[in-house]
Amino acid sequence: MAKMHIKTGDTVVLLTGKYEDKKDENGKIKTHKVIAVSPEEGKVLVEGVNIIHKHVKPRRQGESGGIVDAEGAIYASKVALYCPKCDKGVRTKAEVSYVEKDGKKKRVVTRLCAKCGAKL
Ligand SMILES: [Zn+2]
Repeated sequence: MAKMHIKTGDTVVLLTGKYEDKKDENGKIKTHKVIAVSPEEGKVLVEGVNIIHKHVKPRRQGESGGIVDAEGAIYASKVALYCPKCDKGVRTKAEVSYVEKDGKKKRVVTRLCAKCGAKL
């Protein structure tokens, strides 16, 4: 399984392509929410991004099929985790620490902004 730097529920900024996020007139960058990740494919589903029309087959006879709008997967490399402190999409680094729990050492990975060091 490929290592993913993005998790479901993350706030991200799109880096490339037609959905690239740019700052608006107030200097605020647009962000999006990750609704699903697929480590096997290295892809993510981002809310409101890459909307595709899915054809839905009728479930019963006499019922008509239809077209629904749904998010299409995009490559995880096209998104970056949003750092509120930097107000942009940033690269992350992992900080590994160990905490003791029930007499066992547990490995804890914290994601940090590679730029300012904020916990993300
Ligand atoms: Zn930062």
